[in-house]
Amino acid sequence: MSAPLQDRREGSLEAPTRHPLDWLNPEFYNEEAALKEMERVFDICHGCRRCVSLCNAFPTLFDLVDESKTMEVDGVDKKDYWKVVDQCYLCDVCYLTKCPYVPPHPWNLDFPHLMLRGKAIQFKQGTPTQGRDKLLSNTDINGKLASIPVVVQVVNKVNKMPAVRGLMESQLGVDRKAWLPEFAPHKFRPNAAASAAHPVRNGERTPGKVAIFSTCYINYNEPGIGHDLIKVLDHNRIPHVLAEKEACCGMPKLELGDLESVAKLKEKNIPQLARLAREGYAILAPIPSCGLMFKQELPLMFPNDADVLAVQKAMFDPFEYLVARHKDGLLDTDFKSGLGNVSYHIACHLRVQNVGQKTRELLSMVPDTEVNTVERCSGHAGTWGVKKEFHATAMKIGRPVFRQMAEHPKGETRWIASDCQLAGHHIEQGMEEAGKLGETDMAHPLTLLRMAYGLPA
Ligand code: SF4
Ligand code: SF4
Repeated sequence: MSAPLQDRREGSLEAPTRHPLDWLNPEFYNEEAALKEMERVFDICHGCRRCVSLCNAFPTLFDLVDESKTMEVDGVDKKDYWKVVDQCYLCDVCYLTKCPYVPPHPWNLDFPHLMLRGKAIQFKQGTPTQGRDKLLSNTDINGKLASIPVVVQVVNKVNKMPAVRGLMESQLGVDRKAWLPEFAPHKFRPNAAASAAHPVRNGERTPGKVAIFSTCYINYNEPGIGHDLIKVLDHNRIPHVLAEKEACCGMPKLELGDLESVAKLKEKNIPQLARLAREGYAILAPIPSCGLMFKQELPLMFPNDADVLAVQKAMFDPFEYLVARHKDGLLDTDFKSGLGNVSYHIACHLRVQNVGQKTRELLSMVPDTEVNTVERCSGHAGTWGVKKEFHATAMKIGRPVFRQMAEHPKGETRWIASDCQLAGHHIEQGMEEAGKLGETDMAHPLTLLRMAYGLPA
């Protein structure tokens, strides 16, 4: 089904907009209607092909078309459309950086949200891997259980045993070669240092006080990054509090199409975050996917919810906040230690926040530091890249990133860093497997910033 000829113009001249997700409408879950919409969109994509190198969803689609009898979308069995849906991990890059046919263009293309609709239909129907998928997406429940004293050591040790990884692969579908995060013996939230009584200095662009939404990953897996954020804030005399209670932001559930669970998590997080937003706090989430959830996905699911919109306005990526603080003349730039050659990977879920490369901007202010930015998908994509059926593809997608991170234009790479620490580990694994890691270390950009200030770990 081709788009009408009179509409075949090259992109929209107006700024892109995004329609709310129509997830409460029963029609959203109508499989026949969703497949019909996929046929329309796939036909446009087949004629365009701009996104072929972004991920494996587009090559899967184009192969299906090219190998069909008609060599057009109408020759592809609709059952095979689900193969395309499975390959999408909702990074949003095709929508926000490539596609000229997004609204207000009359073709009204939203490829990621169409894939999300497909995932929501699959989730309602129940897929064979649903047990595994639900388990992997319970980031806060898994973290709570695994970080019980004694249990944490056992879980970490057992998770590294080849026999156990083999069992996890056969029983749970978690690829035995995929990097898995360890659980920290001491969670972030109960051990976060209380703020000093710094006076609140509001800037033109930045509230002068911060509320930290720590995220499951920082709380249970790598609390050091959260402690580094606090040290950086304290060094810059910015008072902080932690969000009172925290549940998962909902992104892992969204990626499964489990939208009802997203709504339940939203009910836990949003009321108290909205209160903080109304009290004038900037809310910082140190994991880009979690920030994106509050900045974009929840507002698109709940476009009329005033609390959700208040949180959206108050939510910052930490480097977005710190660079705005610099523009307000309120950031200390008296750095004590150069970082050398840094290969910095900008995470997809940060790229699509449309805030620019704030991490690169700030790290580049550090003397004796050369930041080389790699702006391409690492392939990790949350829990997607650890699944047995996708891990090899995740490594393949990441290969150009592994190579570019190793090839710093100024010489040997001293540090690799990604805003998404999961992507950072995935890149580290890829570089190691390719024999390109050498003396390079991996650290989160907030850790590098803390080091540049000369602050102790
Ligand atoms: S949202 Fe990301 S993974 Fe999904 S189709 Fe677009 S680029 Fe590929
Ligand atoms: S999503 Fe847009 S840019 Fe990408 S292949 Fe489809 S039509 Fe082209």
